[in-house]
Amino acid sequence: DRTEQDSEYFQCYSDITVHEEMLSDTVRTNAYKTAIFRSQDCFFGKTVLDIGAGTGILSIFCAQAGASKVYAVEASTVSQLACDVVKHNGMEGKIEVICNPVENADIPGEVDVIVSEWMGYSLMYESMLSSVLYARDKWLKPGGLIFPSLADLFIVPINDTTVEERLDFWSGMKDVYGVDMSCVETFARKCVMSQDMAVCPIYPENILSHPVKFATLNLATITQDDIATIAGSFRFCCYGSSLMHGFAVWFAVSFPGENRLTLSTSPYGQETHWKQTMLYLEEEVHVEQDTEISGDIRMSPSENNARHLCVSITYSIGGGACKTRNFQMGN
Ligand code: SAH
Repeated sequence: DRTEQDSEYFQCYSDITVHEEMLSDTVRTNAYKTAIFRSQDCFFGKTVLDIGAGTGILSIFCAQAGASKVYAVEASTVSQLACDVVKHNGMEGKIEVICNPVENADIPGEVDVIVSEWMGYSLMYESMLSSVLYARDKWLKPGGLIFPSLADLFIVPINDTTVEERLDFWSGMKDVYGVDMSCVETFARKCVMSQDMAVCPIYPENILSHPVKFATLNLATITQDDIATIAGSFRFCCYGSSLMHGFAVWFAVSFPGENRLTLSTSPYGQETHWKQTMLYLEEEVHVEQDTEISGDIRMSPSENNARHLCVSITYSIGGGACKTRNFQMGN
């Protein structure tokens, strides 16, 4: 049930490894730091709610930017570390660590700003955005700010060289110690191009057309109903002749302020710990210059576990028959 799933979820954040990975992601952490420091006016003398404070890093940035009070809410046992870090940095007068899910937190009165790093793989994995919206509706002052305030989702068709090499290994293209293993290829393809979404980096040379932004989430206005299914459509026109293995999905978020600082997980930018998410076709398809690929994508929390993610893609390649493929992450 939900409580059990949540305690399993928070358990994942009680270990140091995941926090090490997030803090070593300089693209991620510097984006928050820069966004907060650039918007000092929005923080000076203000009350801030940091949802999912982890080790407390974002709360400290807010206090450094001049916030007079920061509620650092963290449900996992890492909240103890946040307390230590806050004390160690002499911030206990400004930052109050609350060891609870934000849904059960006792926050006296409204806040001026919400700060949160809630984004999962493919943006929606972990479904933490739901907690941010809950807190927004309960405690954010009218006109209050959310850092970040916008999220965009992108999709593009890809050629995956790693998949290609793995399939070639079995297909008889390569010599397997002089033994013909080509009868294994079909099974290998099923495993390699599976319906479990893979998180790995792709590179500009893997990209077969201009990416499409298929959804934008405005955190000020989006509702719990809206995020129950995020849907969008796409139409691509291929650059040139290639083997298409599937689609890659990624996101970007941007912060309030004049220059809208953006934290992007695009394959054209510096790699982040989110990398990109792969949605493989059942079988690779040849595309040519100007081959059209069109379709729809839908993302929703899994029915069995709301922290897990289901993605469904309906697509047509080169005007061919429409196909639908369902993917999962975490199941
Ligand atoms: N803000 C930190 C950690 C981000 S990871 C940083 O930027 O480094 C997200 C954190 O949110 C995890 O530590 C997780 O335990 C916590 N979290 C997720 N959902 C939460 C909720 N509903 N209430 C409180 N904490 C939550």
